[in-house]
Order: sequence, then structure tokens, then C-alpha cells
Amino acid sequence: MSDLRFRVVEKAFCKSPATVEAPEERMDRVYAKHVFDRKKMFEYLPKATYDAMINVIDNGVALDRSIANAVADGMKTWASELGVTHYTHWFQPLTGGTAEKHESFFEYDQKGGVIEEFSGKVLVQQEPDASSFPNGGIRNTFEARGYTAWDASSPVFIIDDTLCIPTIFISYTGESLDYKAPLLRALRAVDKAATEVCQYFNPGVKKVNAFLGIEQEYFLVDEDIANARPDLQLTGRTLMGHEAAKNQQLEDHYFGSIPRRVVEFMKDLEIEAVKLGIPLKTRHNEVAPGQFELAPIYEECNLAVDHNMILMSLMQNIAAKHSFRVLLHEKPFKGVNGSGKHCNWSLGTDTGTLLYSPGKTTADNLRFVTFVVNTLMAVYHHNGLLKASIMSATNEHRLGANEAPPAIISSFLGSQLSSMLDIVENSVDSSELGSGKKTAFNMDIPQIPEILLDNTDRNRTSPFAFTGNRFEFRAVGSSANCACAMIVLNTAVAEQLKCFKADVDALVAKGEDQQDAILKVLRGYIRECKPIRFEGNGYSEEWKEEAAKRGLDCETSCPLIFDNYESPESVAMFEAVGVLSAKELKARNEVKWETYTKKIQIEARVLGDLAMNHIIPIATDYQSKLIDNIYKMTAIMPKELTEELSAENLKIITEIGRHTAFISEHVELMVEARKAANKIESEREKAIAYHDNVESFFDKIRYHIDKLELIVDDRMWTLPKYRELLFI
Ligand code: ADP
Ligand code: MG
Repeated sequence: MSDLRFRVVEKAFCKSPATVEAPEERMDRVYAKHVFDRKKMFEYLPKATYDAMINVIDNGVALDRSIANAVADGMKTWASELGVTHYTHWFQPLTGGTAEKHESFFEYDQKGGVIEEFSGKVLVQQEPDASSFPNGGIRNTFEARGYTAWDASSPVFIIDDTLCIPTIFISYTGESLDYKAPLLRALRAVDKAATEVCQYFNPGVKKVNAFLGIEQEYFLVDEDIANARPDLQLTGRTLMGHEAAKNQQLEDHYFGSIPRRVVEFMKDLEIEAVKLGIPLKTRHNEVAPGQFELAPIYEECNLAVDHNMILMSLMQNIAAKHSFRVLLHEKPFKGVNGSGKHCNWSLGTDTGTLLYSPGKTTADNLRFVTFVVNTLMAVYHHNGLLKASIMSATNEHRLGANEAPPAIISSFLGSQLSSMLDIVENSVDSSELGSGKKTAFNMDIPQIPEILLDNTDRNRTSPFAFTGNRFEFRAVGSSANCACAMIVLNTAVAEQLKCFKADVDALVAKGEDQQDAILKVLRGYIRECKPIRFEGNGYSEEWKEEAAKRGLDCETSCPLIFDNYESPESVAMFEAVGVLSAKELKARNEVKWETYTKKIQIEARVLGDLAMNHIIPIATDYQSKLIDNIYKMTAIMPKELTEELSAENLKIITEIGRHTAFISEHVELMVEARKAANKIESEREKAIAYHDNVESFFDKIRYHIDKLELIVDDRMWTLPKYRELLFI
């Protein structure tokens, strides 16, 4: 087995940089080749159908079933020209991944033959037998059907020979069972609320879009080496492994030159992504060895989420062609950085204004401050819920470690924006000045654009940072469906903007000047949400104490953090904005707890298995070799010399014995804890038991395994080591 490890590692290190050459295609020529976008719609649909589709996409009007057949016809003609033979509804169930069930176009023609057919009916709606998807108890078996319904705002695309139709997934009784349906509702809500607020500043605004630019971090590991690690195979992360002598301490990987073999993978990935209309723009090495990042240009939020979901599976497929394994896990390796999925989020109007960009006029700047402050208020009021939205069994390992944000949500604004809010807070409005129209706001902040243009402040420990014309939600995990975070963020901002409008309108109704009313409300908000603003080091112990004093959510246990979804404020918010009902929230939490438990359960099994079947036998073998050595020395050497020379070996023999005894004793205790936890009925209590009583063994057991790795003969160690996994 150890020979196998050496063969695997040797083979990996000898791999030619360009085992598979990336195709020599030009991005601009293949852009959106595999997407049924507007250009293709124009080409393949009758004019009236095309116009109706554009109306559906741009104005969110419901899709008229009468045009569905014509759309399906056009789609099929286009797809068939590209060799497509199957179609599938493509949706995002609560598993966190995507789901698809391919159907052939092939149908009986009722005349004894067959035809290829794709009707409007199957384009628009399907009833997959979806009883095995998580639903948190919403569907009993007698109503096990779920519906998938086409989301016409996200274009249909082709993967291999299959036409993929983005859909929402809902239960027979209408509850959402996916991430897309509530995301679309949240986006509609933030559009409505933000448009109304925008109209204070520009009555011409008719629509507000949420934008999302996703920076996706990931690790690449040679496929053969990854295959020799059962923990990576089954859990996506290494459950053991001593740190390599060199990892990221020299900081020589970040933005370093990308290894040739990796560049070939990236080029191939970019071409395939661009064919699917995913505008990949940035690629670079990340901080940890073996870690990389890619980022498309930002897009409308729902589309950006779909694209990220497609991209994650595309990455796996293309990586396999290049003999790599992509690790999307948030913390695949101990001691080096984890991976996040930074969600750059902003709002923009149909008139072309980015609402988090300051402008040239007072009205523009007041609009800018309005949106910044309302966002801070939303993040402040729902900081616990926002944390719940990014929390998972996997992201739990990353938060608070190596350059990842801590498990406390706060917002970093940078010194310039902070001092600007101070000015607004301390300003007086025209009524207080008693001087007619001219406000203090107008006088004191004339140069916002210049100030913010060189806002280069960066704080990597901040979970929610202002970065020039957007907020960057950095706490989101690399493997997550970021719809989860986007549902909460957009809903919270929508709710807050509604409150803001009500507050301002109440003052105006009392006769206050509108601009003064806006300023007055903002001043109150700035004071109220101050606890969410934090510019310091998120890792420090002082911050934890300070955050608790400020009343921010400081819980670190994943199952308990999920409680935030069912708090009275959260339920009220989701219901008021019409995004999720109390019943849906409850069901979703059941799924979250159950998923958490299963992930920890799998990790516990793999850890126990590796400890007992790999580590202890190897360590004991090596121990026997040392004992053997002492016996043999005794046979040929004088007693005094044997004692002197075997003293060191005896120490190692004892040390190995101590480690193996600890490991087997604690694996047994962990198994007992698991058995006890399995008996618990409630999903929430079970998840808590897994967190408190099972997962708590992992680090203890790992510590002793990692110590053994340092002692045992390298030739006998079967699992590839960090130095072999991390360097390409
Ligand atoms: P950095 O690593 O410096 O934060 P990157 O260039 O890696 O920046 O990624 C920034 C991401 O933010 C890109 O996806 C970019 O398109 C996106 N972005 C830029 N402006 C906005 C905006 N106004 N709203 C949303 N996303 C944006
Ligand atoms: Mg970046």
C-alpha cells in the first residue's frame, strides 16, 4: 500500500504540464454558443413569440401558455442543430446541489412509428417523482409529487447532448422546495421596495436589479493523489494530516505565476464556461498552495447564482479531463486558508445608476447614503440570520480561521465612508438651520466621488465589507449555493427599505421637507445601527467580547445558529415581504439540521475507519519493527551497549503506544456518542448532539494521528501527506 502511495505521488509529479491541451478557441467567437439567449430567440422564434418572451424576461409578466409551444419549437430546432437529443428541467433542491432528470425528445407518433418531440407543456412544467429530495416534512407520501416550473428569466442552455431548462421546484401544495423560488421572490421584493425609494431621487426609475459578482475560491489536487485519500473522497476534506514544513508562510503563492498544468485547466474551463454564457474574467493563485480563484463579471443576481451552480459542476468535469480533482470544500486542509465564495452584491436601476456609487449631485449623494445606511440597518437587525444563511457543517470549519471572517457578522466601511456617515449623523437639516432650502448635508459633503474613488481600504477579516460601489459578503462558503445568502440579504434590505419609506413618508405627511425628512430618518438609523460597524481585527479576542456587548450574534455552533431562521423577527420579515412562510422556514430548518447531522456522521465514520484500519495498524507495525530491532541488538551486542543504543527506540515505542491507545479509546467513545445521538428523534436536538458530543472528538483524535505521522517510517505511511497533496 505504501508502495502505492509512492507510485501515485511519483506519477503525479511527473505529469506533463499539458497532458490535455486546452482547445484553441477564441472566447468572443464562442460566447453563449450553448445558450438560448435573445439573439437565438430572435433567430429561431416567430416575431410575435419573440416579443412575448422579451416581455416575460424584462418585465416579469407571467408566461402565457399559448406561446409555450412556439417557444419549445424554436428551442428544439436550435438545440437539434447542435446535436441535442435530450432535455431536462434543471433545478436547485435543498440538497445544495443541482438536480436533473434527462428525457429524450423521442416519442411514439401514434402511427406505429416514432418522432422527436418537445412540446410547450413539458417545457413549462414537469412533475418529477421527487419524493427523495429533502423537504423537511412538507410532503407526505400521498402528496409526494413536486412540480418544476420554468424560470424564463434564466436562459435555457446545453450541456453535452442535453437541453437544460432552469426551473423552480415546489410542492404539490405550493411550498418551495428549492433555492430559486424564494430567491426570485426576494429579488422581486427588493426591486419593488428599492424602486419606491429611488423615486425620491429620480422619479424616472421603474426597476431595480440586484447584481451579484461571485469570486469562487477552490483547491486543485492531482486526481490520483486525491483518490488515495479516502477522507477526501468521501467528505471532501482531509480529516488528518500534519502540516507541511512549508505551506503558506512565505506568501509566495498568492498572485504567483500559475503552474502550467493548472493554466491548461483554466483555459479549457474558461472556454466551456463562456460557451454557456458565463463571463469568466479573472483567474489567479490564492494564498494557500494549490488554491486558486476565478470570478466572472457580475450579472443579475438570479442569473449569477445559476451560473455559479453550473460553473461548480463544470469545474469538476473539466478538472477530470486534466487529471485534477477540484475541492470546493470550505476547509479541505488544516493550517492553511479555507475557501470562500465572496458575493459582491449591489443594486442598480433601469436608468443605469449603481445605487452604491456616489454621484455628482446632492441628490445622488443623498441616494447613495440612503442605500448604504439602509443596508447597514438590514444587516444589523438580521445579523444572526445572515450568519445562519452562510452556515453549514463545512463552512463552520472555515469561519474564524486563517483569513476567513469570524462567526460574527459586522460591516467594514473604510475610513472615508465611516467619516462621511459621521458627518451626516452630526449634520443639521434646513429646518434646524432655519435657513430655507440649503441643508448642511449639501454644504459638508461636496466631494464624495473623489473620496471613494481611492477607497482602497481592505479588511480581509470583515464578513460584509463595502468595496467602492458594492458590498462584499465574504462569509459565504465556497461550496454553498449562494442563493441561500442572497435570499436573506435581499429580503432583509427589501424589508428595511419599506420601513424607511414609511418613516420618511410619515414625516412628510406632517409637513416636513422631503430631503430633510430623509436626512432626519437617516441620522436616527446611523445612530441605531452603529453596533454593526467594525473596522478592526475580526480575529481578536477583544472583538468577540466587544461584539457580545454590542448585542451581535456571537453563537458559533452551527445547529444553534440555524435557530435564527425561526426567530420571531425572521419569520415576521419573511412573511411581511412574502418570501417564505413560517411553514416553509420550519421545513427548511429541518433539512438543514438533518444535512448537518449526516455530514458529521459521515466524517465520524470515515475518521473512525481510517484511524482503526489505516493508522493504528501502520503505527503498530512500525512499533513492532523497533521492538524487533531491540531484540536483535540484544542478541548481538553487550547488554550495556544495547541499553544505551535502544534508549531512543524505547522512547518512540512508548510514544507510539500512547498515541495508539488514545486513538482507539477515543474512537470507541466517539462511536458510543454517535449511537446515543442517533436515538434522538428531533432533528434539531440530534444535530446539537452531533455538534457537541461527536464532532468534538475530531480534533482530539486527529492530533494524535498527526503526531504519529511525524514518527512512523515514511515508507510505511499509506495516506498521501500534505506536502504531496498541496503542491502541484
Ligand atoms: P477583488 O478580489 O479585488 O475583490 P475581483 O476582481 O476578484 O475583485 O472580483 C470582484 C467581483 O465583483 C467581480 O465578479 C466583479 O464583476 C464584481 N463586481 C464589480 N462591481 C460590482 C457591482 N457593482 N456589483 C456587483 N458585483 C460587482
Ligand atoms: Mg478577488
